[in-house]
Amino acid sequence: MSSFKIGFIGLGNMGAPMAANLAAAGHDVAGFDPAGTTAKGVTVAASAEAACADADFVFTMLPNGAILRSVAAQALPAMKKGATLVDCSTVDVDSARAVDAQASELGIGFVDAPVSGGIGGAAGGTLTFMAGGSDAAFAATQGLFDIMGQKAVHCGQAGAGQAAKICNNMILGVTMIATCEAFALADKLGLDRQKMFDVASTSSGSSWSMNTYCPAPGVGPQSPADNGYTPGFAAELMLKDLGLSQQAAEAADADTPMGALARSLYTQFVENEDGRGKDFSAMLPRFETRGHNS
Ligand code: NAD
Repeated sequence: MSSFKIGFIGLGNMGAPMAANLAAAGHDVAGFDPAGTTAKGVTVAASAEAACADADFVFTMLPNGAILRSVAAQALPAMKKGATLVDCSTVDVDSARAVDAQASELGIGFVDAPVSGGIGGAAGGTLTFMAGGSDAAFAATQGLFDIMGQKAVHCGQAGAGQAAKICNNMILGVTMIATCEAFALADKLGLDRQKMFDVASTSSGSSWSMNTYCPAPGVGPQSPADNGYTPGFAAELMLKDLGLSQQAAEAADADTPMGALARSLYTQFVENEDGRGKDFSAMLPRFETRGHNS
């Protein structure tokens, strides 16, 4: 693969190790973050525009859609025609589509490519990318996805990557809550947690939340529950994603009552019940302390 000139905007927990992996693979990476963060092997640019100048690809890894829109408004005019903007943040579908429209007016390719795999996946280059955009823009970016991740699925046109991400995480939020409340009920029925796991993980109650990321400490494979519920995937990040899925459901007139209830439970957990900073599977100790009507 030839060596590219790459701009990387947003060197936070995820962006910094992703940019470092691109640099370690031999690409010329210029990074910018207003917080002054840096990444190994990455040249520091003085502004978003400077990171974009002459770049073949510009990656963004930002907190939300409003920030993506404002960064794209700065970055796109500074990019050369024929270059590709790849947004890996988790944002609303409308923001991804708006940035795509702006990019295509300027003759710039766009891919929305949110990730799963968390900070460990970013550092280890084992992320999964869910991508939306034209065939050409996806094909151009594929080799760079391969450096930062183990898998990239082309889900459809612009916005399809974000749609896949928020639908997947709505399932995850709902199944995690169901798994946690079932363990708490099993406790009160006097059922041993290991027995509960042995049955549910091999029966129709199985799911990623039960089998791979079991919320009960000492049961199933190693998970944040075995480490005092240190994230992992923080409850507030799950809340962000459930907010995005409800926003999308409202915009698309979709009926998502379980997603709505999951958002309301995570809101309560994060804002009123000390859930902030804990893994999203810490819903289990939350349910343990509650009764039927509390
Ligand atoms: P983070 O807060 O650590 O990083 C975001 C970075 O963006 C910060 O360093 C911030 O200074 C920078 N930033 C803010 N405004 C900016 C601007 N105007 N211009 C340039 N940079 C700006 O967040 P993170 O954990 O790296 O997550 C980034 C994105 O990835 C989010 O959308 C998040 O939902 C998503 N995500 C995170 C995880 C995870 O486990 N952390 C997993 C999957 C997806």
